[in-house]
Amino acid sequence: SFSLNDKVGLITGAASGIGLATAKVFLDANIKGLLLVDQTQEALDCVFQQLTSDEISRCDCLAADVSSGNSNYAEQAIKKWGHLDIAVLNAGIGSELKSILETDVKTWDRIMEVNARGGLQQCARVMVKRNSGSIVITASQLGLQGSPLLSAYSASKWAVRGLALTAAEELTPLGIRVNSVCPGPIVTPLINDMKGEDGNGWQRMADATLMKRLGQPNEIANAILYLASDAASFCSGTTLKVDGGYAKF
Ligand code: NAD
Repeated sequence: SFSLNDKVGLITGAASGIGLATAKVFLDANIKGLLLVDQTQEALDCVFQQLTSDEISRCDCLAADVSSGNSNYAEQAIKKWGHLDIAVLNAGIGSELKSILETDVKTWDRIMEVNARGGLQQCARVMVKRNSGSIVITASQLGLQGSPLLSAYSASKWAVRGLALTAAEELTPLGIRVNSVCPGPIVTPLINDMKGEDGNGWQRMADATLMKRLGQPNEIANAILYLASDAASFCSGTTLKVDGGYAKF
């Protein structure tokens, strides 16, 4: 079922957009414990202000940069609840629209280190001790195709998909399912920079979907809930495209 009763999870990038919507969907699905990870304590405090007291009693938070190897959020979840069943590795950054000819190496490196590192190893290391767990990685429809003016972002999401597929092959025999979602264009702060010089970037993205609209964060959160939950018990190595029909394959 889609219930997360008795499960403990963590979500990175939980203070905004898809991660925040996923946190709410997980809480609605009765998750027992949920660790919210994001860059700043301020952003996490803002999230806590939106939660009910019952939800707060099931949540903990940690300010951490997922690109640094210094924060062990998986261990924090273990310390608090004794086990970790679900990890949603979702933190990510976008970029301004720029051609390959104009993209600087600093931008390239930052996008790769945030989007493609993301904490899979630390989560797998704690899950493997119980031979059980479900990892869901937020990739992108731009990790299924090329994406003019977003070369670093697209490359980082292809990297994430390669990692997800490889992790599925290595970790499924150890009891850990690894799957990824590929969202289409979703209305979150991440796409604020993607309006383009003429300001019509969002319209173009909407027009490229079969539904002629942008998606909402909870439309991805529901897909993440499915993959994270026992309802997806036969899914590992799955790439679930949730993009309004943007990628035509
Ligand atoms: P968002 O900007 O609303 O949320 C991303 C969150 O990640 C933010 O709260 C941010 O603070 C956090 N974050 C960024 N870098 C971090 C770091 N180094 N350490 C910890 N936290 C960090 O964006 P979103 O659209 O909700 O993005 C969530 C995921 O979905 C990203 O991986 C993104 O690439 C992916 N995605 C988004 C879209 C879209 O159209 N919005 C499409 C495809 C994929």
